[in-house]
Amino acid sequence: MAIIVQKYGGTSVGSPERIKNVARRVLETQQAGHKVVVVVSAMSGVTDSLIKLSREVCTQPSEREMDVLLSTGEQTTIALLAMALQGLGTPAVSLTGAQAGIVTDGVHTKAKIFNITPKQIHSHLDAGAIVIVAGFQGQTPDGEITTLGRGGSDLTAIALAAALKADKCEIFTDVDGVYTCDPRIVPDARKIDTISYEEMLEMASSGSKVMQSRSVEFANKFDVLFEVRSSFNQNPGTIVKAETPGMEDVVIRGVSIERNQAKVTIEGVPDKTGTAAKIFNALAAANVVVDVIVQTAPHEGTTDISFTTNSDELVKAGPVLKAVAAEIGALGVTQTAGVAKLSVVGIGMRSHSGVAAKLFNLLAACGFNIQMISTSEIKIAVILDEDSIAAAAKAVHAGFGLAG
Ligand code: ASP
Ligand code: MG
Repeated sequence: MAIIVQKYGGTSVGSPERIKNVARRVLETQQAGHKVVVVVSAMSGVTDSLIKLSREVCTQPSEREMDVLLSTGEQTTIALLAMALQGLGTPAVSLTGAQAGIVTDGVHTKAKIFNITPKQIHSHLDAGAIVIVAGFQGQTPDGEITTLGRGGSDLTAIALAAALKADKCEIFTDVDGVYTCDPRIVPDARKIDTISYEEMLEMASSGSKVMQSRSVEFANKFDVLFEVRSSFNQNPGTIVKAETPGMEDVVIRGVSIERNQAKVTIEGVPDKTGTAAKIFNALAAANVVVDVIVQTAPHEGTTDISFTTNSDELVKAGPVLKAVAAEIGALGVTQTAGVAKLSVVGIGMRSHSGVAAKLFNLLAACGFNIQMISTSEIKIAVILDEDSIAAAAKAVHAGFGLAG
C-alpha cells in the first residue's frame, strides 16, 4: 500500500463547500487503495485576520504568543476536514503538528524542523484512518508551540513526505501548476510538465511564487519528488524533481517577472577596501532585503554602486544610506522606483551558448533599455522600466519558443 501525502492550501479549504470537496478527493485517493496523510493550511484569509487581530490588542505582540495564535488557523481546518470525512462515513483523525511528531527549534514565527517522529501517524494509518495534519506548526522539545514561517504548510507536507518515505507528495493549490510565465501577463503561457528543484527555486526568487522557497530547498536536500496541481480540477500538474540529463535540452524553462522594484545608486563611492561592506552591513542591520547588485569600473578613484530592492523597502533604506554615504565619503544617493525585473530561467543554459545575446537582442528589437543585468548559472535577469515589463515578457517568452 502506497503512502500518499496531499497538501491543500488556504484557497482549496477556503469554505465549508471547499472543505467537503477536499474530503471527497481525499476519500477517492484512499479508495484507490492508498494510505493518505493530508496536510492543510488555514482557511484563506484566516492567518491574515489573526495577525490583524493581534495588532488590535498590542502594537508589538510577542512572537511566542503569535505562534499560539496563528497555529489555531490550521487547527480549525484539520478538525473541519476530519469531520467532513467522518460525515462521508470514513474514519479520519486530525493531528496538530505536535501530535504528528514534528519537532522544531525554538525560533518562534520561523522555526526550523529538527526531526519528525511520525509514530501516531503510522498507527492511525495502520488502523485504516485518513490522517489530517495541521500545516505550518510544530513543537519544541520543551513543548512550546512554534510556526514555520508564512506559507509553511508546504514545508510540513514535504518534510512529512520525507519522514514517511511517502510514495507520492501532491501540493494542491488554486492554479494548475507552474507556468512558463504568468498567464495574466502572457496569455499563451503553458503549464510546465516537469521542472528541476533548482529552476523552481530560481523562478520563485524571480517572482513566480507558487510555493514557499524553503520547502523547495528542503525537497531538494532530501530528494522529495512532488507535484503541484489544482484542487479544483483533475488536470495533471507540474512535477518538481531532481534534474535528469534530458532536462537540459530545453534552453529556457520559464520567464518570471517581479514588479514593484526600485533601483538605488550610491554615487562616487571611494574605490577603497571595505566601502561596499560598510554599505551592505548598514542595509543588513536595517533588515533591507537587497537583490541585484552592480558596481561600475573605478574611474578617477571612485565607483558607483547600484542595487535593487522592493519599492516598499525604500523607507527603511533611505535614512540608512544617507548616513553611510556621509560616513564613507560618497557623493550622494539616488533612488528610482518604477522598475521591474525580468528573468529567464533554465538549466539548459549551462550547455547552450548565446542565451544572453538572444535575450538582449529580443529586448533591443522592442526598444527596451536594460538598466541592470545579473546572472547565475541557470538564470539571466535584467532590470527594465516597469512600464515595459509586460510587453518585454511577451516578446521574450515568444522569442525563446515558450508560447503554447
Ligand atoms: N496559514 C499559514 C500562512 O498563511 C501557512 C500556510 O498557509 O501555508 O502563511
Ligand atoms: Mg497559504
